[in-house]
Amino acid sequence: YTDTALYQAKRGGRNSLLFYDPAMQAALEKRSAMESDLRVALAENQFRLFYQMQVNQSGRIVGAEVLIRWPHPRRGMISPLEFIPIAEETGLILPIGQWVLDAACAQLKIWESAPEKAMLQLAVNVSARQFHQTDFVEQVQLSLNKYSINPNRLKLELTETLVLDDIDDTIVKMHRLKKIGVSFSLDDFGTGYSSLYYLTKLPIDQLKIDQSFVRNIGLTQSDAVIVQTIIGMANNLQIENIAEGVETEEQRLFLEAHGCRLYQGYLFSKALPLESFESQCASIFRRDGTSKKQAGGSG
Ligand code: C2E
Ligand code: MG
Ligand code: MG
Ligand code: MG
Repeated sequence: YTDTALYQAKRGGRNSLLFYDPAMQAALEKRSAMESDLRVALAENQFRLFYQMQVNQSGRIVGAEVLIRWPHPRRGMISPLEFIPIAEETGLILPIGQWVLDAACAQLKIWESAPEKAMLQLAVNVSARQFHQTDFVEQVQLSLNKYSINPNRLKLELTETLVLDDIDDTIVKMHRLKKIGVSFSLDDFGTGYSSLYYLTKLPIDQLKIDQSFVRNIGLTQSDAVIVQTIIGMANNLQIENIAEGVETEEQRLFLEAHGCRLYQGYLFSKALPLESFESQCASIFRRDGTSKKQAGGSG
């Protein structure tokens, strides 16, 4: 089937589906069922935030990435890889993204009164369509004000594609948000159209090395070189860098040896529901406190 046929089917509505083979028809129906389920999910507050810790060289938790989860009432847990693209196509990403941002700020507020969590930064994924809305900066400001949290504790994860999508809009918005105190991480770094020029022109605080490269450290020489190059470049530009998808101690050692000081991945923890994340924070906090007392501050 040609693109034209697909276009006609999309435009023509239900009857045009007759053009299609059953597999394609099933896919389209699944998609439209997902769309209406997403609307219900929003209305019924079905989405949940999970937290994946980000740790430094000494194993201390410095923050977490907020990852949305959708426990579907009939289909079980649905991966964001499956529903975020549909949310983006349908525009539902706008209310969903706003909900994530607001819920993350609400959580930061709650953590303010807990010693082991008051310093944590939360990194929130922002999709292109969400970022490029005319009132995105106002939305962020609104959530920050609503909970009166320190904007420095909020980090926005943008992708290279998003940044270059509409570079003029990106420049204006990033600088406005930076002025407020929000920081930025460039997610999945190395997989998009990396423009080294913009790295120095945009207020980017952190590069997040994509897990596809991290996974191949020790397996594919060229990917190890890419990782090493990204770290070196980031450090030379004085941009913080973090590796995502760190699964083995071998990978972590390579990263550390080449100057990467922050890590996120299954080696430390997968994304966890709030309660489990909080108990992990508490046990690491206790462990740190204890080892410090026993080792006289050297641990
Ligand atoms: P991402 O932002 O690049 O997030 C990293 C993904 O890698 C997460 O998948 C995380 O669970 C997974 N991951 C972390 N460590 C490891 C590891 O050691 N090994 C492996 N194999 N995977 C690891 P998740 O949670 O399924 O999210 C997938 C993508 O969905 C995210 O990629 C992000 O692009 C999108 N996403 C998630 N939450 C949101 C959200 O709130 N808003 C938007 N716009 N997108 C989101
Ligand atoms: Mg991310
Ligand atoms: Mg990523
Ligand atoms: Mg990724």
